[in-house]
Amino acid sequence: MTSQTTVPQIGHLIGGQISATHLRNAYDPGRLDEVVAQVAVGTAQDVDRAVRAAHAAFPGWRDTPVAERVQKLLAAAELVAGSACELAPLLVREHGGVLGEAQTDFALGAGSLQYTVSLAEEFLRPVQFDDEQSFISVEKVPRGVVAAIVPWNMPVVLTMMKLAPALATGNTLVLKPSPFTPAALTLVLHRIADTLPPGVLNVVHGEGDVGAALCGHPLVRKVVFTGGTTTGRKVVEATASTIKNVTLELGGNDPAIVLDDADTDAVLDRMLKGVYTRSGQICFAVKRIYVPRGRYRRFADALCDRVNEYAVGHGLDPQASFGPLNNEAQFKKVLSLLDRTRSSSATLVELGRKLDPSSWDNGYYLLPHVVRDVEHSAPVSCEEQFGPVVPLIAYDDEEQVVSWANDSEYGLCSSVWTTDPDRGLAMARRIEAGSTFINTHSFESLDLRMPFGGIKQSGIGREWSTTGLSAYVEEHAIRRLK
Ligand code: NAD
Repeated sequence: MTSQTTVPQIGHLIGGQISATHLRNAYDPGRLDEVVAQVAVGTAQDVDRAVRAAHAAFPGWRDTPVAERVQKLLAAAELVAGSACELAPLLVREHGGVLGEAQTDFALGAGSLQYTVSLAEEFLRPVQFDDEQSFISVEKVPRGVVAAIVPWNMPVVLTMMKLAPALATGNTLVLKPSPFTPAALTLVLHRIADTLPPGVLNVVHGEGDVGAALCGHPLVRKVVFTGGTTTGRKVVEATASTIKNVTLELGGNDPAIVLDDADTDAVLDRMLKGVYTRSGQICFAVKRIYVPRGRYRRFADALCDRVNEYAVGHGLDPQASFGPLNNEAQFKKVLSLLDRTRSSSATLVELGRKLDPSSWDNGYYLLPHVVRDVEHSAPVSCEEQFGPVVPLIAYDDEEQVVSWANDSEYGLCSSVWTTDPDRGLAMARRIEAGSTFINTHSFESLDLRMPFGGIKQSGIGREWSTTGLSAYVEEHAIRRLK
């Protein structure tokens, strides 16, 4: 599909109107000569218009009965689910992941929206005290205009995790998609916006300058950001002068700890779903695996045998286990990490096979790698690789592995693998992370009842559950003296 007449044009959505004065081409990371969409390039003026539209829509949406807001957003969840068949292939072509991964993004997005919204009525009920002295009502009120900024790796679900609590609690929203995955997400947001009053949901496209303008806008009362830790620091700086509330979901370097009683085959059956899915480009992918020294060789051999079965190709190729990386910067970052690993004492093993090798140079393709005999302190263990590469580190005892797991400025998710539930729970409690999973570490591990987010430099705050809703309200305490 190279003809520019057949590609969708993706505009800003401001106050219910779609607009685009400047457009740029967005390309398929698996076929670099194919234009997937033409996307609006935003400016600080577009940000200002969108924020003002959201600000104007705020009083009406805030005063809409919560039951009515919930009803509209439950219908929006159905729109997200119902858009998957049509839009998932477009998401594949802008993202690079395989079709099943794009469908998962839509399914998780719809589920996240539906579940979070269903908590809102109960959550928003005021807490009241009435005694001889006074009547007290502690009420949860929306903050106003919320700015949401999302990355490219799971654009639909990461957006719905913000849209659901923001709109259900009565805020209005300006969202900035990633310039690497703007199309499928925006088309589904246009459909949702059509069912809401104009200005409640706005979308502005652009790069970091547009994100920065949103973070600094004085009428924005809260910023919710998912992306890299380096960008997260800029978000904090940009919001500081206007003292905004922020939620940050940042990078991770999740450890998986295999205990000496674990069954290797059973571990690999489940763990591998969390290592190479989306070519490792998931914030809570397994990014370093710790194995008891006495079991290291057998585990490493079994892991390599399994990984060798993967086939890498275009995301729309039904034979592909996974697709190319999403963009040039990410591709070069992973290649550089591989180069540094190659020149160290570790053993870098390239596995799997290429589908359609002649197209290999026309995309950001990379075969899966396992790094054997690697030290805990090596860059490939300490940095977030965000690619199809996993280091396998031998440890001597539990004290050592707990200290290594916690020896990181990241603290997103983590896992313990064991046949002994009590041992697993005891070890899980010693790990510094937002979430620790036992005998699972992939999309299967997630449960919407669990708050999701990181500690240390993996972020501030949580999404999902009632903890996630509470990030979008202020408590207004009212007391009448009798
Ligand atoms: P990124 O930080 O480069 O970009 C994220 C978003 O921020 C994009 O929309 C980008 O345009 C915008 N942006 C860039 N500069 C900005 C600025 N100065 N001010 C405001 N916004 C700005 O991240 P990415 O490469 O798109 O995504 C990969 C990263 O996201 C990884 O580190 C990954 O771990 C992280 N991530 C975290 C989670 C989580 O829940 N913790 C989930 C997914 C991805």
